[in-house]
Amino acid sequence: MDITVVGSGTVVPRLERRQSCVVVEAGGETLVFDLGSGAVRGMLRAGLDPFAVDRIFFTHFHPDHTVDVVPLLFSIKYGADEERSRPLLITGPGPFERFWSSLMDVWGEWMVGNYPLETSELPHESTSPLNLPGGRLSWAPADHRPESIAYRLDGEGGAFVYTGDTEYSESVVELARGAHTMLVECSFPDDSPVSGHLTPDGVARIASEAGVSRVVLTHVYPAADELDLPKEVGRGYEGQIVVARDGHKFGV
Ligand SMILES: [Zn+2]
Ligand SMILES: [Zn+2]
Repeated sequence: MDITVVGSGTVVPRLERRQSCVVVEAGGETLVFDLGSGAVRGMLRAGLDPFAVDRIFFTHFHPDHTVDVVPLLFSIKYGADEERSRPLLITGPGPFERFWSSLMDVWGEWMVGNYPLETSELPHESTSPLNLPGGRLSWAPADHRPESIAYRLDGEGGAFVYTGDTEYSESVVELARGAHTMLVECSFPDDSPVSGHLTPDGVARIASEAGVSRVVLTHVYPAADELDLPKEVGRGYEGQIVVARDGHKFGV
């Protein structure tokens, strides 16, 4: 699977870091996890076609992970050269349907095109994973918002995990067990933690307990960006450590 970090930033406006979004191309499909502000233009910047998106998955409903679904659907409806005919699936953790119907109340008239648009709501525990063309998708609760979940895609080359926002969480450790690559939030320095988020120490703890081969650090706030994050995380984790940049591509 080919993975592109489209947005590695946070609520803090930065030129160099858009808000959260990661695109996974696997099994002939384009999957998008989170769609924060700037994600649609970020896909263009990263050489990806926003109209190619087949499935959208949300980790939680904070605006820095969701708002660009509106311009994405608006552009699919009115901004494409060819009218879309293939389906688009949009999924999130419960109460996703309530979140979605609120968006539809405001913008549905401009968001819904003449193609099949399917929404579905995931239970917090993945008792029955989804079998996608690109692999088996499972998920587990993350420790951030009541609805928060993290995702894992098991493909041919190994497993990719995206934590979304979380603090240290045993269920994320279990989900990430033995994964090849974990795209993990690393929001704040160890000396100024914020609840619901990770610092290098928590990233190292999850990564080493789960035994993942590589971590890619994302959702980096400016204070954490000042640090030598590979060194900080490397105090408690022996695998490969990469700090994500917008447009950064890697394979699993
Ligand atoms: Zn966030
Ligand atoms: Zn959040």
